[in-house]
Amino acid sequence: MTTTEITGAEDVAWDLSDLFEGSDDPRLEADIEEAETAAAAFRERYYGKVAGLSAAELSEAIAERERIEEVLTRVGYFAHLHFATDMADPARGALVSRITEKGAALDTQLLFFGLEIAEIEDDAAESLLESSDLDHWRHWVRSLRKFRPYLLSESEEKIVTEKSVSGVSAWGRLYEELLGALRVELDGAETSFEEAMSKLYSADRDVRRGAAEAVTQALEPGLRTRTFIFNTILLDKSIDDRLRGYETWISARNLRNDTTDEAVEALIDAAVSRYDVVQRYYTLKAKLVGLDQLTYYDRFAPIGEDPSTVSWAEARDIVVGAYADFAQEAGDVAERFFTHNWIDAPVRENKRTGAFCATSVPGVHPYVLMNYTGDRRSILTLAHELGHGLHGWMAQPLGLFNADTPLTTAETASVFGEALTFKRLLALEEDPTRRLNLLAGRIEDSIATVFRQIAMNRFEDSVHTERRSEGELSTERLEQLWLETQSKLFAKSVDIDGYGTWWSYIPHFLSTPGYVYAYAYGFLFALAIFRKYEQEGESMVEPYFDVLRAGGSRPPEELAAIVGLDLTDPSIWKSGIDALSDELDEAEALATEIGLG
Ligand SMILES: [Zn+2]
Repeated sequence: MTTTEITGAEDVAWDLSDLFEGSDDPRLEADIEEAETAAAAFRERYYGKVAGLSAAELSEAIAERERIEEVLTRVGYFAHLHFATDMADPARGALVSRITEKGAALDTQLLFFGLEIAEIEDDAAESLLESSDLDHWRHWVRSLRKFRPYLLSESEEKIVTEKSVSGVSAWGRLYEELLGALRVELDGAETSFEEAMSKLYSADRDVRRGAAEAVTQALEPGLRTRTFIFNTILLDKSIDDRLRGYETWISARNLRNDTTDEAVEALIDAAVSRYDVVQRYYTLKAKLVGLDQLTYYDRFAPIGEDPSTVSWAEARDIVVGAYADFAQEAGDVAERFFTHNWIDAPVRENKRTGAFCATSVPGVHPYVLMNYTGDRRSILTLAHELGHGLHGWMAQPLGLFNADTPLTTAETASVFGEALTFKRLLALEEDPTRRLNLLAGRIEDSIATVFRQIAMNRFEDSVHTERRSEGELSTERLEQLWLETQSKLFAKSVDIDGYGTWWSYIPHFLSTPGYVYAYAYGFLFALAIFRKYEQEGESMVEPYFDVLRAGGSRPPEELAAIVGLDLTDPSIWKSGIDALSDELDEAEALATEIGLG
């Protein structure tokens, strides 16, 4: 991706010296060595002895385990961030793989600690946890021990871990390599998969159709091999779940996400019962782009032209202003990212695409990477990443283990910050066409995050369930289940004829089964908090900050309770979806107003 627009973001580069002076900083090597020495000493001191520790001794051991993790995380963050701004530099790539290998080796060495904590008998564990010595680690220990009923013996766990390298991980890697090698024949030339997919955003329908057909064609070769790999991974997971005693295919994921099967079911039911929002939106969009009905390759077609570029300075004002309007403290933290060079903003050759926030380690602030192009979407991306930044900043005093959030609450501050900024953008815009474009973009993002993920979860649910009851699934059957779950989502609003093999390019299904619903969970949770803030105003500010300050030190249910929400009540999901539906109402009204509805 390149841009010729001058936005003022061109020289906005981050300063990584708060982590290390550079890849040749002698502290870096010294830290790696220190982590290795400390890990060896840790194993020597605690291996086989965890059950015999007093509460005070256990507390000390966890603190030391966390400290080792911190040392390595700091080195790892530096390597990854350093690499992200110039991925063509072999030295930067080499540093990343060296640190990754070191990290894996240390993990294996220290694996015993978590296992031994989980193996402590329930009664003994409860009396340990009653001690005030473990106040700081109580949630961390409890989260770890939730896996206790599903753990195998240490020697079995070792076999599972070691054999997975040549088993399920190898299959996963083969799948990724096959996907990576896909080439799309487009306009007589060979192009990458990403390049072809990006053409689905073209304003020219012929270009979109051509790209979609070329993608479908490119997915054809090797489909049977990919089907076989998918089946193998489905089988592997079913064996694993059976041996460990997980009730359903998704139970292990839910536990890891710090949530329950019931809460996730309520979320899924709520989203599935409101697929009408998606269908209404795509029906409206068809009118907006002048079609009778959208096909699957029209979903990302741009609505109207907005050639205006927003300068970096203006984006900064809008985002920091939105945060400061909410609370001065939030605005001040956001402002620091700009004044202290914690953001790497411009589009640059060989830089990582997309955007992320690295929340870093205690004592070091978070860093934000993005590819700022000056379109409206970039402003919301900036707001999103600064939300993660605010979250990381506020939770940091808890330390690495307690600040770390599960996937389900990781997006709280980012989605909230995006909602704040979107409201401001909308308030600044009076022209109905531009308001409509803003709303459409917002609704499309929400559909992608909530409903699309839930429809994908329904596909996963059907394939995992069927693999367990009926055995291997054929390519045709996978296609059928994919189209069934997609057509429930779109009904008549989108024609999906020709879309049948597109399940096979989504790596999440294989690499992290059950992953996708967490996007919807996090998004709707954050939106429910935002809606409450809109209703109650100022009085929600401190409770909201308390949620951020708690990081991952408390389960999602308790975090929700801080802001007066009940995660076991399905209406929480309904509230977030109602907010989307309200935005859609306004979009429909605007379309009528400008004569397009
Ligand atoms: Zn995010």
